[in-house]
Amino acid sequence: MCLFCKIVNKEIPSNIILEDEEFLAFHDINPKAPLHILAIPKIHVDSFNEADGDLMGKMSTFIQRIASEVDIDKSGYRVITNVGKNGGQEVQHLHFHVLGGAKLHWGHFSDADPQGHF
Ligand code: AMP
Repeated sequence: MCLFCKIVNKEIPSNIILEDEEFLAFHDINPKAPLHILAIPKIHVDSFNEADGDLMGKMSTFIQRIASEVDIDKSGYRVITNVGKNGGQEVQHLHFHVLGGAKLHWGHFSDADPQGHF
């Protein structure tokens, strides 16, 4: 069973913010912003590559509920999902990083030439 499935099953403790029948939100153990929350489906889905429209629709609503719950819906926030090796995905269970609580930087994603594809 994967790490986040164990968190869903409460075999591994987490600091839960919001939970319903299908989704769970908890604080990231290694925060990259004053608020760094992970939102996951309870069913195991490997990554965004395998997420269908129905799941994504419900996931969007759940993420909006998180933002409102922790009061960053008005101040703003960022939603990120890393996919696969180049995306930097370390846990192979679909998750969305919800980052906020301060003005976030926007910058350097790789050492490759950003114009390299053109
Ligand atoms: P990613 O690199 O997109 O796969 O993100 C995985 C995230 O999971 C990282 O930001 C980790 O800090 C976080 N993480 C790993 N283990 C735990 C845990 N037990 N509880 C909460 N967050 C975790």
